[in-house]
Formats: sequence, C-alpha cells, structure tokens
Amino acid sequence: MGARLRRLKLVNRGKKLSDGKSISGKNRLTDKLIDKFTTYYGNAIRENCSSTDDMRKSIWAIYCHYRSTDEEPMHYFCPVGASSWCSYQKAKSSENTSYKHNSIVPTSVMDAVKPIFAELSSPKLLKKCLGGKTQNSNESFNSTLWKYCPKTSGSSKIIVDVAVNEAVVMYNDGMADRLDIMKHLGCKLGHFSVTYAFQSDNARIKEAEMKSRSSTLGARRALRMRKKAMHDHFVEIGVTYEAGAF
Ligand SMILES: [Zn+2]
Repeated sequence: MGARLRRLKLVNRGKKLSDGKSISGKNRLTDKLIDKFTTYYGNAIRENCSSTDDMRKSIWAIYCHYRSTDEEPMHYFCPVGASSWCSYQKAKSSENTSYKHNSIVPTSVMDAVKPIFAELSSPKLLKKCLGGKTQNSNESFNSTLWKYCPKTSGSSKIIVDVAVNEAVVMYNDGMADRLDIMKHLGCKLGHFSVTYAFQSDNARIKEAEMKSRSSTLGARRALRMRKKAMHDHFVEIGVTYEAGAF
C-alpha cells in the first residue's frame, strides 16, 4: 500500500487532479496520510486473517470512512457502537446529531487512490494473506535474491542462476554454508574466514531477534520511517528492490 501510494504521488508530480490542484500538499495525499492508510491496511488484513470477505470489508471501510463528507457520509462498513474507532458511528450511537466531519481528504484525492484500494483488495491477492502471513514475509526469499541480482539491471542466465543458488544458500544456512562451497571449490579455509562467517551469522540472527523484540508501536513506526528514508534514497539513486514494484 505504501509503495503504491508513494509511486502514485511520484507519477502525479506536476500534474493536476480533477479539482485543478496537485495530489500532494496540505490536507491532501501527505506522507502522514500514506502512513495512516498503510498501517490501517495492514491492520485490516491482520485482524481478519481467517476471511478474505472480512479483509475486503475492512479495507473498504478505510476508504469509505476517509471519502465521507457532511453531504455524503459513507460509513457503511465502519464498526457501529460507542466503542467504534469511527467518530461518526460513535456520535451516532450517542444520538449526537450535530456531528461534523473534520480533516476531510478532498474527493479528487480519494478518487485518485481508489484504483489502488481496488487492486489491493482483490480476493485473489487477499487469499495469499489468509492465515496471517504477510506479503513481505512470503517475499523475503525474493528480496534475498534481488540483493545479488537487482531487477533493474539486465543479467545473463548464468548470473541469475548463480544468484539463485547463492540466495538459496544464504536464505537457508547463511554464511557458514558458504564455507562448504569454498571447500568444494578446493579453497583452503583459514582461521579468519571461519571466524568471519560465524560472526556474520551471529550478527544477522541477533539483528533479527532485536527487530522482533521492538514490538511497541513507537519502535515499529520509527523503523518504518527509517525504511522510508532509505527507500527515498534508493529512489533518488535508482531503485533496487521494493515489494510489489515489478
Ligand atoms: Zn467511519
């Protein structure tokens, strides 16, 4: 979701939407709104990981909620009752009839992002997320592979074959298995190459454990912002790998 919305913003740079204004700017498709949509989209999938229908409904609840105005409220999919996250439904349950929508996202912006919501709520895609598996964890082998063999630069079949084998080795057993390959190639292994391989594997495991411990919302948000900064850097110097970008 984040990648798609950022790309939408990028391709619309300098263009005008149906209301004659650009897609970005104050109260429009800001980085903050992109982060919000991305987080809510992830939650919609994780909280309904046993039913694609419920996932789909929750995803469209986000869209319709943000598309709502005083003239045209569209909170059909928002949870009802006093404990709802939707302020409209909350007000409705307390019979507050003077509810006003504040911080409305312009309709032109919502129209522009609608195809992305439609594409990312397709049952075919959501089926892959059943059981709470996310697209990224399914793709992590791919990301290991593309590190060796970026999709953006053409490679011969030999290079791709080598990269696939190398990625399988790293993905399954890490650096330690590389030593085996070197042995089979007839290389003599010294003290330093063995120590280096094990140290590097330990560091990789430690980093993964640390990441899984930073489960607080704040830490995850900070991590996302750091990743976003890195992503922007890669866009500037020419893209390498991004989930769903190819
Ligand atoms: Zn709502």
